Amino acid sequence: MTTSVIGFPRIGENRELKFNTEKYFRNEITQDELFAQAAELRLKHWKLLQEAGVDYVPSNDFSFYDTTLDTALLFNIIPQKAAALKLSPLDKYFALARGYQGEKGDIKALPMKKWFNTNYHYLVPQFDKTTQVKLTGNKIFAEFQEAAAAGISTRPVLVGPYTLLSLSEFADGVKPEDFISQITAAYAEVFEKLNKLGASWLQLDEPSLVKDMSAQDRALFNKIYETLLTKKGQLKILLQTYFGDVRDNYTDLVKLDFDGLGLDFIEGRKTLELVKSGFPDGKILFAGIINGKNIWRNNYEQSLNIIHQLPAKHIVLSTSCSLLHVPFSVANEDFKPEIKAHFAFAKEKLDELGELSSILEGKAAELLVKNQHLFTGNRIKSNQALKEKIANLTEDSFIRTPEFSKREAIQKKEFKLPLLPTTTIGSFPQTREVKKTRARFKRHELGQKEYDSFIAGKIDEWLKWQEEIGLDVLVHGEFERNDMVEYFGQNLSGYLFSKNGWVQSYGTRGVKPPIIWGDVTRQKPITIKWSKYAQDQTDKIVKGMLTGPVTILNWSFPREDIPVRESTLQIALAIQEEVLDLEGNGIRVIQIDEAALREKLPLRKSDWYSEYLDWAIPAFRLVHSKVKPETQIHTHMCYSEFTDIIPAIDNMDADVISFEASRSNLEILDELQAKHFQTEVGPGVYDIHSPRVPSIEEIKNAIHKILQKVPEHKVWINPDCGLKTRGERETKASLENLTSAAKEIRKEL
Ligand code: GLN
Ligand code: ZN
Repeated sequence: MTTSVIGFPRIGENRELKFNTEKYFRNEITQDELFAQAAELRLKHWKLLQEAGVDYVPSNDFSFYDTTLDTALLFNIIPQKAAALKLSPLDKYFALARGYQGEKGDIKALPMKKWFNTNYHYLVPQFDKTTQVKLTGNKIFAEFQEAAAAGISTRPVLVGPYTLLSLSEFADGVKPEDFISQITAAYAEVFEKLNKLGASWLQLDEPSLVKDMSAQDRALFNKIYETLLTKKGQLKILLQTYFGDVRDNYTDLVKLDFDGLGLDFIEGRKTLELVKSGFPDGKILFAGIINGKNIWRNNYEQSLNIIHQLPAKHIVLSTSCSLLHVPFSVANEDFKPEIKAHFAFAKEKLDELGELSSILEGKAAELLVKNQHLFTGNRIKSNQALKEKIANLTEDSFIRTPEFSKREAIQKKEFKLPLLPTTTIGSFPQTREVKKTRARFKRHELGQKEYDSFIAGKIDEWLKWQEEIGLDVLVHGEFERNDMVEYFGQNLSGYLFSKNGWVQSYGTRGVKPPIIWGDVTRQKPITIKWSKYAQDQTDKIVKGMLTGPVTILNWSFPREDIPVRESTLQIALAIQEEVLDLEGNGIRVIQIDEAALREKLPLRKSDWYSEYLDWAIPAFRLVHSKVKPETQIHTHMCYSEFTDIIPAIDNMDADVISFEASRSNLEILDELQAKHFQTEVGPGVYDIHSPRVPSIEEIKNAIHKILQKVPEHKVWINPDCGLKTRGERETKASLENLTSAAKEIRKEL
């Protein structure tokens, strides 16, 4: 039995790639130094996979920023303005990813979107009338050769043409179908070159197949591949899917001339059923059995049970998706051995593939027995009282009174804010100083008193500055928080934290999702101290800042022994306590971030409500259902793709919602208008994912655009998201422009 891995975390065991790339951004190392370090890292990973006995080792899963952007550039899909920049190819690449503002020009970054139902983000390729798809890049070949030179034969990985087209944006006047022949020819050229280089396999990632497909989508897919597959020569093609099942075109896939089909048996609820309906003898089934998204040990008995049901003649054991979505290794953690035994990060998952394959070959029965012990023992003691509390929730527990329109009137009187009130999303720059101080405190190098006075000082400084520039609703800045989830988890029972469990989120940014180990309850107040401190320093309103239950869950590694709905309600009850505590301490505006609500929206529409929204939205409502009418509840989302679920978002029953909008051209506003969205809105007026400073004019334009669609009394003015990843200089300049723009527009109203 052979084994395969779809992709491996590229940032490195100790986030080397992140640190080196950021050094390059700061001009501390040269391009050649960055390249050399990247090559070292790639080699280390290939060797690791090889030594773990993985038979199909991927290449080109490496990226300096994002593999979708790599693919776009491989095929010359680059906006004209960026193509014209007189920068080195690497700097042009980073300009597309992060925007560029300097002596060579001024371009915005490409839009960035969440990669399917994960917390990884990809850059959205842009097609317009001038786009000429052709093979111009070399990365995939160079990396294949680099591995070959080290004696490692790899299977290059590439985003497939269908997924590439389905993830891209098309300007007016062009559509995906216009590019079929160009794109087919360009991929065919990749086939030809890989043939020449002696590659035996190519993995084409087509995760878009797990989304709902229309007849037109199916036709598009078939049209591309029917031609393309006639060009493969000696090269074998693995059609790789993940994050779900391919129910809409499985019958096409088995007929097409692929050499291997990679299917997901973890998230693909129908995968087993599909394969059982028939799998051709001439193809290899790459069975995604090891969960590439969660960190729990694989249950070998369950996996074997699936494998034994597979009718395929040739099976390769594989991961359910790229291991990009899990941290590097459990070996770097100091959990107790009895806890560690339950976890498998990327490196350990390689061993699991090997162990499963040995067991299947009848060589390692003892491994099966050892594995079974993990699932039969009592891992945790469950909280009976909490269980009852959840069982006793009634419909009223999820309803806030009075209804929104009455609250809106009460709150307008209560706060007397100007039209177009200005605010920010919560965090201010986490400078090196801030991070260093927090780290020193954590390592006990700094006492509580010194630490507190440092945080208080930062809050004072930024409150004063916010007052000076005339922001209306202030924030304390979140300097005490490492991130949006861990900070909360640390004060909740049932949570475990890894030391080095980083997962790439976008570019050089990573997240360290905590692990939900047991039942969750609030141990002690979480945010009260600093929210109250900040409010006591100013007459202006300071927003309390919380993370919502759905986001806390979605950004944690969830339990697999109880439904996620149950864990979410546990978290919701804990955050509800915190909300009421803030209110009791004089905090009048409370923002409950649901930055990740959209993230776990099932990829298939038919599952949206039944599998998710039907419990996720009520979980949010539970959190604020008991607050007073005059307490204003804000929420925030880091994206604007909720056009299709606008009623559900309105149904969260928040008083104000802010969301990402600038990078996606404020498109959502039409829909909000059409659907009579009642919640007040703060569509982000500038993009915070880039160090670019928006001009007053630019922000005024955005506000004008908003006012064309949303009644002025419903509009808030704010940036896209929190500012913790930004520098102080650009943050201040941008927000000064934001308040000036709002003031100027108020005069027009
Ligand atoms: N309040 C958070 C912050 O400002 C929100 C961050 C987010 O939405 N990702 O950092
Ligand atoms: Zn955000």
